[in-house]
Amino acid sequence: MFPIYDVIVIGAGHAGCEAAHAAAKMGSKVLLCTMNMNTIAQMSCNPAMGGVAKGQIVREIDALGGMSGIVSDKSTIQFRMLNRSKGPAMWSPRAQNDRMRFAEEWRLALERTPNVDFWQEMISGIVVKDNRVVGVRTNIGIEILAKSVVLTNGTFLNGIIHIGEKQFGGGRTGESASKGITEQLVGLGFEAGRMKTGTPPRVDGRSLDYTKMEIQHGDENPEKFSYSDETKPIKEQRPCWITYTNTNVHKALEKGFDRSPMFNGRIQGLGPRYCPSIEDKINRFAERERHQIFVEPEGWDTVEIYVNGFSTSLPEDVQYDAIRKIEGFEQAKMFRPGYAIEYDFFPPTQLKATLETHLIENLYFAGQINGTTGYEEAASQGLMAGINASLKTDEKDPFVLKRSEAYIGVLIDDLINKGTEEPYRMFTSRAEFRLLLRQDNADLRLTQLGHQIGLADDVRMEKMLDKKADTARLINDLKQKKLAPEEINISLEGLDTATIKEKITLEKLLKRPQIGLTQIMELDANLKQYLSKYSKDALEQAEILIKYDSYIEKEQQMVEKLNNMENYKIPIEFDYLGITALSAEGKQKLNKIRPETLGQASRISGVSPADLSILTVYLGR
Ligand code: FAD
Repeated sequence: MFPIYDVIVIGAGHAGCEAAHAAAKMGSKVLLCTMNMNTIAQMSCNPAMGGVAKGQIVREIDALGGMSGIVSDKSTIQFRMLNRSKGPAMWSPRAQNDRMRFAEEWRLALERTPNVDFWQEMISGIVVKDNRVVGVRTNIGIEILAKSVVLTNGTFLNGIIHIGEKQFGGGRTGESASKGITEQLVGLGFEAGRMKTGTPPRVDGRSLDYTKMEIQHGDENPEKFSYSDETKPIKEQRPCWITYTNTNVHKALEKGFDRSPMFNGRIQGLGPRYCPSIEDKINRFAERERHQIFVEPEGWDTVEIYVNGFSTSLPEDVQYDAIRKIEGFEQAKMFRPGYAIEYDFFPPTQLKATLETHLIENLYFAGQINGTTGYEEAASQGLMAGINASLKTDEKDPFVLKRSEAYIGVLIDDLINKGTEEPYRMFTSRAEFRLLLRQDNADLRLTQLGHQIGLADDVRMEKMLDKKADTARLINDLKQKKLAPEEINISLEGLDTATIKEKITLEKLLKRPQIGLTQIMELDANLKQYLSKYSKDALEQAEILIKYDSYIEKEQQMVEKLNNMENYKIPIEFDYLGITALSAEGKQKLNKIRPETLGQASRISGVSPADLSILTVYLGR
C-alpha cells in the first residue's frame, strides 16, 4: 500500500508542515502523517506571526525558500513593523492572521507540493533497526517504511489539559493526546521531560464594548513577510484594541486560586517565563493594579476574539466572572475557556546541529518536542530538519546555519549546546550579532544558501541578486554625489547645518543621525527623481549600511574571529573520556553533546576555558 518513503514527517503543525514542504521541494518522497487532517497548521494559541526576533525568523524561513512567510501574508488581517523608532536591528515584523485562512493556505500549499503524500492517523511508534530508524508504526498497526523520520509532535505527547480542578488527556482542546512515542523513546535511551503552556479564553466580539478600549490600527503602509512576489501587502486591515485588567478583575481571579492547578501543585511542568498566565502575573506582581490586554480578532469574517494577555487555567466560572470585570467586557460571552496543557518534551542536547538525534540515526526532532514555544521557532526547526533529512537521504553534506548567519542558527545552537529548562522562545538579546541578523537582509544572508540546496527557486535568487546589485550601485552613487552647504536647507530639530562648511557627499550627509534618504530626496526635485529610480528595498538597505557601517564592520570582525574556531572541526568519534586533564563536567558534557567544532565546544555550558585550551592542544592545533 505504501512505498518506501525518503522522509516521514510525524505531525502537521508548524514544524511538520515546513519539514514536509522543504524535503519534498528538494526532491524527497515525503509522507506527512498527522492525527487530524482538518487541523493542519492549526495556530494553537494566538492568531499572529512574527514579533520581536520571531519576525526575523519568519523572514529567514522565507529567504531560504520555506512557506511560513507566504502563508502568513496570504492570511494577514493586520500588519505592523514593531520597534520602528529603534535601530534597524530591532525592527520586527508582526502580522495578525485569520486563523482559519492560515491553516487553509498551509494545507493548499502542501497539497500543491509534488512529492507530499498524506496519512491521517496517530503514529504510535517508530521502527528501529540497528540504531537506525527505518519507519513508523501507526495506531492500527500499519508499518510504513522510510529512510528517515522527523518527529514534530508539538504539545501532544502525553498531553494533559487543565481547567481548574478538571483535568483530562488532550494534545490541544478537542484533540486527543499522543500515546506511545515517549515511552518507546525512553526505552531506547532518550531522556524526556515535562513542560506546560497555556492559552486564554476566546469571546464573542459582538458582546464587547469597543468604545471603552483604545483602538490599535495596523501600519499606514503595511509591509509583508515574504521577499517573493507571490504575495502583496494587504490593502485593508482589521483593527485590534487595547484594554486593561483592574483590581476587581484581580480579586475575582484570586477567588479561584485554591482551585488553580498552577498553585495547588497539580501542574508540575515548567511554563514559558515570558508568557505567564494572568494568575501568575497578579501573583508575582501583586503591586501592579492593571495588566494590558490586547483584544485581537481571530479573522476577517469571524466574530471570535482572542483575549491576548489573559492566559489562564483557573476554573471556567472564575474566568467568566473575572473577564466580565474588564473594561469593555462587561457583557462578554465566552466561546471557549482558557486552559493549560502539560506535555512531554525531549531535552534538545540529545541532538546534532542538523536536529538528527545522537542516539538513533536518521531520526530528527523539530518544534515544541525540543522544548521550544512559538510557531516561528517550531517552523524554523521543521525547515532545518526537513532539509537535513532530505540531504542525508541523498548522501549530501548537512546544512547548518551559524550564529552569525541567522537567528535560526542561534536558536539551534542554543538548544543543542545549552538545552532548556523552560519553554525556549527567541529574543533579539540571544543573538550576539543582531546588527547583522536584521529582518531587512534575511534574503541577502540566506537566499543563496537556500538556492544551493535546491529549496529557494531561481526567481527568488534573481530578485535577491538584483537587490544586492541595486544597493551596491546606490551606495556608490551616494559616495560620488556632492551637495554644497547652501543646497542643504533641511530644518530638523538637533541638526546644525551650519557645521557643513564645504561640499559634502550624500554618503557623509546620510551618516548624520537625523538625516535619512527621505529628507535628502526633499532637498531637490532632480535628486528626488534620480533616487526614486531605485527600489524601496535598495533605498532602505543603502541607508542602513551607510548609517551603521562602523558597527556592522565591528560585528563582522568579531564573526571572522569566531569563524577561526568555528571552522576547526572535531572528529565525531573523539575520545573525550580518555583525556584526564579535562574537568569532570567538561568531559561529561563534551562526551554527551559531541560538538562538531571548537566553536561549538566553547558554547557548551560546563566546558571551561581551561577545557578548551586542553582540547586545542589534543586536536594538535
Ligand atoms: P504543534 O503545532 O503542536 O503540532 C503538532 C502536530 O503533531 C499536530 O498536527 C498533531 O496533530 C500532530 N501529532 C502529534 N502527535 C502525533 C502522532 N503521534 N501522530 C500523528 N500526528 C501527531 N506559543 C507561543 O509562542 N505563545 C503562546 O502563548 C503559546 N501558547 C500555547 C498554548 C497552548 C494551549 C498550546 C497548545 C500551544 C501554545 N503555544 C504558544 C505553542 C505553539 O502553539 C507551539 O509552539 C507551536 O504550535 C509548536 O509547533 P509544532 O509544530 O511543534 O507543534
